[in-house]
Amino acid sequence: MSTITPTIKLLINGNFVESKTTEWRDVINPATQQVLARVPFATDEEINAAVAAAKTAFKTWRFTPIGTRARIFLKYQQLIRENMQELAAILTAEQGKTLADAEGDVFRGLEVVEHAANIGNLQMGELANNVAGGVDTYTIQQGLGVCAGITPFNFPAMIPLWMFPMAIACGNSFVLKPSEQDPMVTMRLVELALEAGIPAGVLNVIHGGEKAVNAICDHADIKAVSFVGSTKVGTHVYHRATLAGKRVQCMMGAKNHAIVLPDANKGHTLNNLIGAAFGAAGQRCMALSVVVLVGAANEWVSDIVAKAKTLNVNAGTENGTDIGPVISCAARERVESLIARGVEEGATLELDGRNPTVNGFEKGNFVGPTIFSGVTADMSIYHQEIFGPVLCVVSAGTLDEAIAFINQNPNGNGTAIFTQSGAAARKFQEEVEVGQIGINVPIPVPVPLFSFSGSRGSKLGDLGPYGKQVILFYTQTKTITARWFDDNTVAGGVNTTISL
Ligand code: NAD
Repeated sequence: MSTITPTIKLLINGNFVESKTTEWRDVINPATQQVLARVPFATDEEINAAVAAAKTAFKTWRFTPIGTRARIFLKYQQLIRENMQELAAILTAEQGKTLADAEGDVFRGLEVVEHAANIGNLQMGELANNVAGGVDTYTIQQGLGVCAGITPFNFPAMIPLWMFPMAIACGNSFVLKPSEQDPMVTMRLVELALEAGIPAGVLNVIHGGEKAVNAICDHADIKAVSFVGSTKVGTHVYHRATLAGKRVQCMMGAKNHAIVLPDANKGHTLNNLIGAAFGAAGQRCMALSVVVLVGAANEWVSDIVAKAKTLNVNAGTENGTDIGPVISCAARERVESLIARGVEEGATLELDGRNPTVNGFEKGNFVGPTIFSGVTADMSIYHQEIFGPVLCVVSAGTLDEAIAFINQNPNGNGTAIFTQSGAAARKFQEEVEVGQIGINVPIPVPVPLFSFSGSRGSKLGDLGPYGKQVILFYTQTKTITARWFDDNTVAGGVNTTISL
């Protein structure tokens, strides 16, 4: 067996190339600490070469017929399906989530690829006939040019697939900067995209961290940037890239609350709360990290704890695993220190998941399900995004109080209510100031017929990724007002007034 650690390649102008950089980082299996590969931090020359390749490719790609573009994505979705298990295995090895959850990660991205294959219907303009005598006005939606995507570690398949398929289907070329923590499954998806027929230069990939991201924000030839990641970095990207004149959308951090009313279906609610709080070790931007128990539902704390205790913490590759490791040793230390802060600040630690025993994977970054009750808005475990398997339980007397509690939180990614009352659910939907709402649905991430629509502190920019909104994000609307004359006769003279 070879002991040489593989290197992750850059993709520039259709070629997978070895970076000439001197700066590298290890990609580490979070369950075993095995080094899987080394990822380069691309040089300025390499980043510029990727953007230049995309700029050249745009000149021809933008005129590619709708059917040709659609057929590439039809082929692409087929290749992703055929390689699903391999993709999931790569993802689990570098990211840690269970194999079943890794397939879900790929599948939610695949749905966006299927949507991109429908681009002919999605990218249509509008026409108004006879807006004045003999005058028609119509719109066309044209690709912008070179677009770029910057993605986080937690969905290394789905989130890159939110971005480049839609951008490219709309007629743009693309430069992708995956997370440096787990770029391997992203690169396999990129290989499959080329195999599906995406031409050289239309899709390019650079690797790196802060420097590469800043280069994307500043580059004069990049027209739009889609970012998904933490609030701190997203806010920086939004300011820097908009200042450089780009169109920017940033999907950022979250603190998602679920309200539980006492009339809720108890079994369904407990299953959903536990799955959404602890699935993927709490490392989902739509994880339910706060539950607000209303009135008599406050008696359910022991049931929530009992249900959480049934979860199996183990490597994502093992049968029966519910919770895999968190992404890195640093992430584990951060989660553990926040749990310690929760205790110091006076919350009641109902279930302590620190230092679980995981036989055979003693070096893994494991944190088991952790539950605090008696949580208040001033505590660190409440106002910070923990991004680990930690659930905060808050108590409220009434639905009004619970909604007000959610609305005082600056984030607005997702929320849910569990109840059998249509009136309560409707009141919640009308009054809660959060962009994605579940009614007896714990993680209400919209399918690509819609768009991801987080709000307030969880998002900067007007239009969401994938779905209808992203067509507008990745295109320039041109509005054309046209008049045609039958012959050379001239009716009337010069008119210097605006017409009535
Ligand atoms: P992150 O912000 O650390 O990294 C995201 C990207 O930014 C990566 O590509 C990274 O290389 C780059 N980056 C990191 N530090 C940087 C810096 N100082 N300057 C410039 N670029 C930098 O996020 P993460 O830890 O990879 O992902 C987890 C976060 O992403 C969580 O906050 C989660 O809520 C959020 N997230 C949000 C959504 C959403 O749709 N709202 C979806 C998934 C994840």
